[in-house]
Amino acid sequence: MSAEILSGIEQEFTEALKNGEFCVWYQPQVDMRTGVIRGAEALVRWQKKNGELIPPDQFVPDLEKEGVMPLLDEEVLRIVCGDICDAKQKRYSFCPVSVNLSRLYAGRKGISGILREITEEYGIGKGELSFEITETAKGPDDGERMPQLARYLQRKGFRIAMDDYGMGNSTLKLLQEIRFDILKLDRFFISRIGDPKAEVILSSTITMAEALGLEVIAEGVENREQIRFLLKHGCCFAQGYYYSRPLTKERYMMRRMERALLCAEDEAAGREETV
Ligand code: C2E
Ligand code: CA
Ligand code: CA
Repeated sequence: MSAEILSGIEQEFTEALKNGEFCVWYQPQVDMRTGVIRGAEALVRWQKKNGELIPPDQFVPDLEKEGVMPLLDEEVLRIVCGDICDAKQKRYSFCPVSVNLSRLYAGRKGISGILREITEEYGIGKGELSFEITETAKGPDDGERMPQLARYLQRKGFRIAMDDYGMGNSTLKLLQEIRFDILKLDRFFISRIGDPKAEVILSSTITMAEALGLEVIAEGVENREQIRFLLKHGCCFAQGYYYSRPLTKERYMMRRMERALLCAEDEAAGREETV
């Protein structure tokens, strides 16, 4: 595409991609029963040349509108695969890492070939990656593509999560069509724990997920009351500021090691849990 017909944001984005201005931070996902970190979600940030760090909410919607988000999804996957290789070389625990796939990317033709190429290039093994798809990810013309992509990734040994559960349309239809491995409860409901209505919605969703054989991860966990409620209703995994904000690769590796040591000490001393 020639520079003249690129929009302002597209030009800026293409330039940033060329200059390697995108980076990935990792938010730990924790087993609330033990406090042990069991993986992380990869979250993109735009590190401008002037040092400013821009959060995804400020550019992802524009890139989606311009149709260039698939290029960023690919860049993020490459960075994550590179980080996994680096951590393996240094013998740090790092996986599994959960990568977000935008609607445009997941619904695109030929996507499984590209994902295979990238993961094989970096020698990514079974169980080292999972992919998050939002329930609004299925566009009107995606047809069978999303369920096919999900089946393909699962055959390769990667798990598939339904992101932001409860916030989009056709949720139950998508649950019927795709055999998800993980269901992520949206922060909107977690932040309303204490309100009887939200609690009914959450507890019945956890029961349904369990019956469907899905693992449940609560997003946006910020306090002990929420942890108590979730554990009582059978949801054991969480990510949220109570445990950790998203961290740079280096800080995530350190945090994971510290946490493992702390939990081992607690276990040796017969203490209950570290939360
Ligand atoms: P998401 O996938 O739902 O990611 C979780 C967001 O919630 C992250 O915001 C995270 O920092 C924030 N969060 C986690 N725990 C808490 C908490 O306890 N309290 C509060 N208030 N917030 C919490 P972030 O990093 O700003 O990302 C925003 C959204 O941008 C993501 O929502 C996702 O939809 C999108 N995004 C981020 N990275 C990527 C990416 O690499 N590819 C695609 N396609 N989308 C991405
Ligand atoms: Ca996500
Ligand atoms: Ca989410």
